[in-house]
Amino acid sequence: MKTTMDPPITLELPLRDPDPVPDCGVCQALARQRADAVAAGNSSRATDCSVEIRNHPHPGRKRRRA
Ligand SMILES: [Zn+2]
Repeated sequence: MKTTMDPPITLELPLRDPDPVPDCGVCQALARQRADAVAAGNSSRATDCSVEIRNHPHPGRKRRRA
């Protein structure tokens, strides 16, 4: 028997809000798209962006480009 709590989907709920890597242009772009989606009330799109940010790989983050 499952008794998981399923919270209702709410607009602009900052539950899944992964940190975009400041140095990563892709993460920054995704963060901007997410903000746009939230502003437009498109929560599913915002969630997509959050997932992409979270899943964006950053191997060798020490490597910096001047
Ligand atoms: Zn990234």
